[in-house]
Amino acid sequence: MKARPKRLITQQRTDTVQALEEANVFLTAQELHSVLKSSGSKAGLSTVYRSLEYLVEAGNVDVIRDQDNVARYRMCREIEHHHHLRCRECHRSIELVDPQIEEWAKKMARRHRFTNVAHEVELVGECQDCRSATK
Ligand SMILES: [Zn+2]
Ligand SMILES: [Zn+2]
Ligand SMILES: [Zn+2]
Repeated sequence: MKARPKRLITQQRTDTVQALEEANVFLTAQELHSVLKSSGSKAGLSTVYRSLEYLVEAGNVDVIRDQDNVARYRMCREIEHHHHLRCRECHRSIELVDPQIEEWAKKMARRHRFTNVAHEVELVGECQDCRSATK
């Protein structure tokens, strides 16, 4: 493969971020690729994969596996409160939404008469892929 100017790669990464932000749903790399294509981007599927990989490692993008074990990606947005299950090997983070955690946090705050209580919950471990890679 020919070396590409760095600026171009960065531009494609920015496009990826923009497309993911606009979609605001979990997309597969292929879905994202066709979104980018229809908005005029020339990024190939492998570039999209690389951009996603980079963004996942940087913690900007959450990834989940659907029933067919296909990875789906979405921008991690702090505005929408949620938690992460993060792999310490590949840094993939899975988004966790659990009303029970929220209820528990509220209950604890009430019990101790705290107001304006915020919380962060992050579970860290090894994902299935990393586990099977080492065995
Ligand atoms: Zn997130
Ligand atoms: Zn992993
Ligand atoms: Zn929470």
